[in-house]
Amino acid sequence: MSNVETRPVEVRCGSTEDGGAPSSVEPRVDVLTPRDVPLGGPRAMTVRRTLPQRARTLIGAWCFADHYGPDDVARTGGMDVAPHPHTGLQTVSWLFSGEIEHRDSLGSHALVRPGELNLMTGGHGIAHSEVSTPRTTILHGVQLWVALPEEHRATARDFQHHVPEPVRRDGAEIRVFLGTLAGVTSPVRTFTPLLGAEIVLEPHATLTLPVDPGFEHGLLVDRGDVRLAGTLLRPAELGYTHPGAGTLTLVNESDGAARLVLLGGPPFEEEIVMWWNFIGRDHEDIVRAREDWENASDRFGAVAGYPGERLPAPALPHATIRPRGNPPRR
Ligand code: MN
Repeated sequence: MSNVETRPVEVRCGSTEDGGAPSSVEPRVDVLTPRDVPLGGPRAMTVRRTLPQRARTLIGAWCFADHYGPDDVARTGGMDVAPHPHTGLQTVSWLFSGEIEHRDSLGSHALVRPGELNLMTGGHGIAHSEVSTPRTTILHGVQLWVALPEEHRATARDFQHHVPEPVRRDGAEIRVFLGTLAGVTSPVRTFTPLLGAEIVLEPHATLTLPVDPGFEHGLLVDRGDVRLAGTLLRPAELGYTHPGAGTLTLVNESDGAARLVLLGGPPFEEEIVMWWNFIGRDHEDIVRAREDWENASDRFGAVAGYPGERLPAPALPHATIRPRGNPPRR
C-alpha cells in the first residue's frame, strides 16, 4: 500500500526509552486509538492508522500500521494502488478477507490471500502495485511496515511468501507469520527480531502467552472487546506494552470470536525519518529517494502489468517538520 495522505508529515522516530527491568507484575497498557486516513480517489477506501501517531512511532521495528475493512468493495471501489516506490523498509500484507493482486519490480506477481504472509523488502529500492481482484467482495486486513536497521537498509529488494500453519492454545487459534510465539517459529527472514501473529480467541476465552521480555508489544484489535493485561481494548484500538513483560494475558470479553494481530520486537534504537513511502536517516535521504522516483531511476525498477500510470511523489514539505520520538517512559 502507498501512504497517500495528501499532506504527508515527515516523521523522525526514535526510541527514548531505557527498556525497563523484567518484572512479574502485569504490564501497563497504553491504549493507542486510530485515526481515519482516506486513501484518495472518488470512492476511496479509508484506513484506520494506529502507527505512527503522536503517542508512539515505533513498536520494535514496526513503524506503520493501517487497518481496514470489512469494506464492501462495491461501495468503496476496493484497493487500486498504482506503482509506487519504497525504500528502507519492509511491507507486510495480511488479509482477513478478500484478495489483492501484487506486482513488483522484482517481477513478482502474487495473490495476497487471507492467512498468507506477503513480506516485501524495499531495501535500497522497489516499486509495486496492489489491486483487489474482481472476485473480492469484502476487503479486510492490515498493512504493516517494518523499518530496516542501518546495516541492512540498502539491502537488495526481495519478496517472501509464507502460509503459517495455525496452532491451537486455550481457546485460541494462532497464526505466527513472523518470529516465535506459542512454540511456533516462522521461517521468514527479518533484519531485526520481530513478532507478528494473528490470534482468533473464542468467546470469553482467556489466553496467557509467554513472550520475550526484551520485546515491546502491540495488540491490534480487529474484532471483539479484548482485555490485555487488565486493560479493555475496543475494535481498531492498539494496546501497547513496554518491554519487561514475560507473559501477556488476553481475555475475550465478547460473545463472539475476537480477532487480533500481535506485534512485537525489541525497541528500535535508531532515529529514522519517514516521509510518504520512504524511510531514511535524514532529510537528504528522502530528497534523494524522491528525486530517484521522479526521474524513473533504476533504483526502484519498473512494475510490469499494471494498467495505468505510476503514482507521482507528493511535493516535499517546504520546511523540515520537527522530529518526533516515542514519549519517555513514565
Ligand atoms: Mn506500498
